[in-house]
Amino acid sequence: MNLSSLAPDYIRAIAPYQGGKPISELAREMGLNEADIVKLASNENPLGISPKAQMAIDDVIADIARYPDGNSFALREAVSQKFNVAPNQIVFGNGSNDILELAARAFLHAGCEAIYSQHAFAVYPLVTQAVGATGVVVPAQNYAHDLDGFLTAITPRTRLIFIANPNNPTGTLIAKAELKAFLKQVPKNVLVVLDEAYDEYLSAEHKSEAIRWLNEFENIIISRTFSKAYGLAGLRIGFGLMHADVADMLNRVRQPFNVNSMAQAAAVASLADDDFVARSYAANQAGMAQLTQGFHKLGLEYIPSSANFVSFKVQDAAAVNQLLLQNGVIVRPIANYEMPDYLRVSVGLFSENARFLQVLEHIINKQ
Ligand SMILES: *Cc1c(COP(=O)(O)O)cnc(C)c1O
Repeated sequence: MNLSSLAPDYIRAIAPYQGGKPISELAREMGLNEADIVKLASNENPLGISPKAQMAIDDVIADIARYPDGNSFALREAVSQKFNVAPNQIVFGNGSNDILELAARAFLHAGCEAIYSQHAFAVYPLVTQAVGATGVVVPAQNYAHDLDGFLTAITPRTRLIFIANPNNPTGTLIAKAELKAFLKQVPKNVLVVLDEAYDEYLSAEHKSEAIRWLNEFENIIISRTFSKAYGLAGLRIGFGLMHADVADMLNRVRQPFNVNSMAQAAAVASLADDDFVARSYAANQAGMAQLTQGFHKLGLEYIPSSANFVSFKVQDAAAVNQLLLQNGVIVRPIANYEMPDYLRVSVGLFSENARFLQVLEHIINKQ
């Protein structure tokens, strides 16, 4: 008997998520030393974590036999103060992907629709399909979200809209005025998830103001993560900010202990370390300039990015990726995002970016 046939059709139709290759896996496959491998494939923070977060983790380990606080009390207070939202407007997740999934589980079911863009973050189709709902893909416009296309795609069955701003893997950003004009036209009974995983990497003038819009637009869910600029990807912690009634629904489908105690303690400490985020921002600006200058020098096209990664175009991306791997450099192929001619590279440390560009130059010159 084929056991997979026991799962519903809509589950069997899901294409599994393809993450960045772990360093340990490449080391095994290629017989390389882990220390010689550069991973620029998952948009992680090359500076690591805040020293304050490290201390908080060390402190909490003594208590690890206890269940975590299921309501994340201390973290809720910290987020509430930092972002000036009421405690009951905050939902915590095991990574912000958890928030995306909670939104889907709370508001989607078979027969209703979620809208997202072509080339948008792969988790939107995953969470939509997992609950048997229908994903509606709006063709991108020059790799960016086409918000007019979103408005046209709305039907009476639409419950959720997912928008990544900036988007991964394209790095494109929707201007604030354009986003606000869009929200004004979205029916009030359609929830809009604004996934702002990379907001900390935006310059002051471009940073999102969506949190201040929560009173005007009761139908938005703002999703934030500690995985990127805060450097806590391995701990899995993110949060959503939304109307209290919406938060109430997400909390009903949330597992009681979805956020572990180390993640909670590290997140509280991270929020109190603006200096670390500022250093991460500055390092990213410098690294992005280094990478884009490298692409110019090699004559490679890239999509200007507002985040901590950039997608660039090569001839035969699969072959280039394979050669990068053989030389101990992990980037991300994005054929599964309908971008078969592109590779996505995360901004790393100066030395990591230099190593990537050097190996890439070698490969391109041999092509
Ligand atoms: C990396 C990323 C996230 C973060 O996911 P976590 O579950 O918080 O680690 C969310 N959205 C987008 C678009 C991303 O690229």
